[in-house]
Amino acid sequence: MTSIVLPATDDLRARARACLDRIGVVIPEGDELYARTPITGEDLFGLKGSGATETEAAIAAAHDTFLTWRTTPAPRRGDVVRRFGDLVREHHDDLAELITLEAGKIRAEAYGEVQEMIDIADYAVGLSRQLYGRVIASERPGHRMAETWHPLGVVGIISAFNFPAAVWSWNTTIALVCGDTVVWKPSEQTPLISLACDRLLARAAEETGAPAGIHHLLIGGQETGEALVDDRRVALVSATGSTRMGRSVGPRVAARFGRSLLELGGNNAAIVTPSADLDLTLSAVVFAVAGTAGQRCTSLRRLIVHRDVVDELLPRLTAAFERLPVGDPFAEDTLVGPLISPAPLEAMREAIARVTQDGGKVLTGGEQVATTAESAAYVRPAVVRIDGHTPVVREETFAPLLYVLTYDSLEEAIALQNDVPQGLSASIFTQDQREAEIFMSAVGADTGLVNVNLGTSGAEVGGAFGGEKETGGGRACGSDAWHAYMRRSTSVVNYSGEVALAQNISFS
Ligand code: NAD
Repeated sequence: MTSIVLPATDDLRARARACLDRIGVVIPEGDELYARTPITGEDLFGLKGSGATETEAAIAAAHDTFLTWRTTPAPRRGDVVRRFGDLVREHHDDLAELITLEAGKIRAEAYGEVQEMIDIADYAVGLSRQLYGRVIASERPGHRMAETWHPLGVVGIISAFNFPAAVWSWNTTIALVCGDTVVWKPSEQTPLISLACDRLLARAAEETGAPAGIHHLLIGGQETGEALVDDRRVALVSATGSTRMGRSVGPRVAARFGRSLLELGGNNAAIVTPSADLDLTLSAVVFAVAGTAGQRCTSLRRLIVHRDVVDELLPRLTAAFERLPVGDPFAEDTLVGPLISPAPLEAMREAIARVTQDGGKVLTGGEQVATTAESAAYVRPAVVRIDGHTPVVREETFAPLLYVLTYDSLEEAIALQNDVPQGLSASIFTQDQREAEIFMSAVGADTGLVNVNLGTSGAEVGGAFGGEKETGGGRACGSDAWHAYMRRSTSVVNYSGEVALAQNISFS
């Protein structure tokens, strides 16, 4: 089999440097941490990391800045986000190119991630004029009761490699208009795109007269994240990543009575019913499994197919998987780029070995794709048929691996969908309204995102995003998710001229 020819790392390094130059980033060169490209699996730059001194200085400065930023009127706070959104529009290509270089996303998906940054900036600017509370009927005569929302404090953002820019933008643009300041600890696997985002926000602050201290970037690994987690000055820790990480972060933040917003792993399923439009189902499923090489929290991992349609769907599905072009994410026709590192390839191999031992049958894929770069990890997306849940099927394997299960009744399918520890995203493909309604009802999917006739991945910024159970319970992005970034006061004013206690209590 011929190897896929990949670009030379020197050319990729030059591309990265050119993007960073255009954005105005001075690369903090050093040897504490390495920016790598999954395209060839090789290092691009050695970087200086943020140590304990830099971390302390960032948290202290963010806390000081918060004391004045919280008094800036919210629509004025929106100015910096508006300018930031414009700068992202100007550098759309540069940011997308850095995402491809560092996270390995194909061009269309990297472009889409930057579009999501623009969308959330627009959303946050609008929100800056709509931070409203409620007036609630008081039970006491001559009293007015109201809720007011106030800025919370320093928001510590810990983010994952797979959405290296969009997830930070969701948190940061909303935190800033809510009057909070931000300290960001991105994934150690994507430092370059983080430097670019930080530089554009700093420029937006300079140009709109906002204080420089509203945002701080820390380049480092788990230890740097832990410093944010344990610091009482960090009012909210918004952490996106694996359930393993959340299991540590949640209790540590709670131990100091801090607030956390956890966006963790998923194990998403789609149900294919007998009435499903199979053409639509097929294209939605292929993107949901193979998009971002299976490295989305919302990637489709389990397909639960009605026994009457499984024999028709499966040959079409495996044929579609076999046609998927795997390779250089910069190449126009590529649909599946590299895995972030060899570790998920190993995890995928191990999951396939375990499920095969449990009676699963590999229908297609799972082989490493040969390339001209020895350290890179490219894999053919895999489809495995298995009867029912085995332990490995209930785990999240962060790679393009789809388990296909069958069912007879809708109740059985929903029970299978819900029989995993995670609760992020679920879909049903059906033309039967009754089935769709049941799936979305209280006895339906127990996930934060519930879709009908679309795949599990690809959310819009207007809706609250997040999931239940081991996905962490947090909600970021649209709808009323901004409440997590503010504190609430319930205020009562007595204008009656008399003392009146609630619950008719007499104390005279
Ligand atoms: P990861 O958990 O390895 O790392 C995520 C971040 O947490 C990194 O910045 C890392 O340095 C930091 N970190 C790790 N352990 C920590 C600790 N004990 N204390 C503080 N910080 C710590 O995840 P990853 O491999 O970068 O990303 C993939 C995972 O993220 C998948 O499980 C995926 O489902 C999940 N994810 C979830 C969402 C969501 O919105 N639910 C979005 C994207 C990714």
